[in-house]
Amino acid sequence: MIKIAVAKGDGIGPEIMDAVLSIFNAANVPLEYETVEMGKWVFDKGFNNGMTPEAQKAIETLGILFKGPMETPKGKGVKSVNVTARKTWNTYANKRTFQTLHGVDTVFSKAGIPINVTIVRENIEDTYGGIEHMLTSDVALCRRFITRPGSKQVIKYAFEMAKQMGAKRVTCGHKANIMKLTDGLFLEVFKEIAAEYPEIKSDDVIVDDLCMKLVTRPDLFEVVVLTNLQGDIVSDLCAGLVGGLGFAPSANIGDDISIFEAVHGTAPDIAGKNLANPTALLLSGIGMLRHLGLLHSAATIENALLYTLENGIHTGDFGSKTTASVGTQAFADAVIANFGKQPHYNAKELLPNSPITITMKQLTENPLIVTENQPTLSIAGVDLFVEFAGQPKALADNLLAHLSGNLKLVTISNRGTQVWPKGSVFTNLINQYRCRIETTDGAILTQQDIVALYAKVATTLHVTSLEILHKDGDKALYSLAQGQ
Ligand code: NAD
Repeated sequence: MIKIAVAKGDGIGPEIMDAVLSIFNAANVPLEYETVEMGKWVFDKGFNNGMTPEAQKAIETLGILFKGPMETPKGKGVKSVNVTARKTWNTYANKRTFQTLHGVDTVFSKAGIPINVTIVRENIEDTYGGIEHMLTSDVALCRRFITRPGSKQVIKYAFEMAKQMGAKRVTCGHKANIMKLTDGLFLEVFKEIAAEYPEIKSDDVIVDDLCMKLVTRPDLFEVVVLTNLQGDIVSDLCAGLVGGLGFAPSANIGDDISIFEAVHGTAPDIAGKNLANPTALLLSGIGMLRHLGLLHSAATIENALLYTLENGIHTGDFGSKTTASVGTQAFADAVIANFGKQPHYNAKELLPNSPITITMKQLTENPLIVTENQPTLSIAGVDLFVEFAGQPKALADNLLAHLSGNLKLVTISNRGTQVWPKGSVFTNLINQYRCRIETTDGAILTQQDIVALYAKVATTLHVTSLEILHKDGDKALYSLAQGQ
């Protein structure tokens, strides 16, 4: 028996989790469950991360969490427990498989175009760091972190998974044409890791083009790896291709702890009404069984589910309008009644169960995942972000009065577009400028030089934020302004 943690969640969570566990129990799945307390009512009890300390301990001991959707209380300034769980336990790869399900009609199924695409979304970084500040009352800033070690973890996972699945192609979705440093780093790491898997075709596609291609020829894609926000959007697009959120499973995979859940949320509009479709959570559970080596259990349940769908049994959110829909538990009961039946399409082979042994590391310190042999970076200048509700020339004159020696005002931009020394009078201005100051002779600055400059500028301007300009040798590690 493998013991896992189970959190039923909020809204439709308890209904769909009970339905799924009834299927697992009827199939004699060799799992034991420890119910843990997470979700909205745990926030309401005063636990700001949405889980009790006992829940955290149980999950860190067992290594597997099977969870229902959870609601984040609004207006309390607390963060989503779903995101907290994924990030705290470093479940760096969010795997979402979308495949044609016979019995779930879509434009593609009607056109005979089969879909079987797995999205691997980076799960920790990007704007999901949620590091946000108001720089002026008009201007909000969100920091987007893309890291080399974080990108390596998820891209390596995507290739290993592709190898195990027998996939022939892994595609990287990105926007490196615009975000040359952040998406550029992700793409660079993708190319490095792809070279380690010559047997798998690898390619990359700009994310907007990817969306267009996915809705026109979804059958061309097998595995797509993306950064967090782009992956979130693209995976919901793929959910739509196969029939909607009711059919979108998700696995959050880490080296130590993994979390299995449906993509959808708590569906408050149908909660408690026995209307919810348990398929997405069931598919997530089937993925979890495979992850745990319970291949026979997974195939038994998946074949019964596919058979049930093929036979037109459906909850209210999909299927024929001319046949009556069934409730959540009745759908689960129909799956149970179909154990042992062979679906017409995509029947799974009944391989024996070979359960994995989960051995949790006894960590006393947080793992450091830093790239070795880091170059020593030098400081070439600084971007000062200042609040200023005036014309660029007035701001430049104000700044120039503070600069002496080899310090030079190189450019001023507003929302990333250069407005000084050159620019267009048609560029609309907000009250937040970026002022780039570098040395004229390429001399290297110290942090103390930057602090001294900050102190001087702060006597006449409100500096809202600053960013050091680093160089690796002659290579500038910062982007240019638009039009610079
Ligand atoms: P949602 O996914 O809960 O609902 C969107 C729509 O899809 C609704 O009309 C709903 O009825 C329908 N739907 C969703 N799941 C369904 C199912 N299994 N069967 C039938 N219909 C289903 O998205 P939302 O309304 O934006 O979010 C509601 C809450 O869920 C929010 O508090 C949000 O933060 C939370 N949420 C949690 C998770 C998670 O736990 N991982 C994910 C997304 C949203």
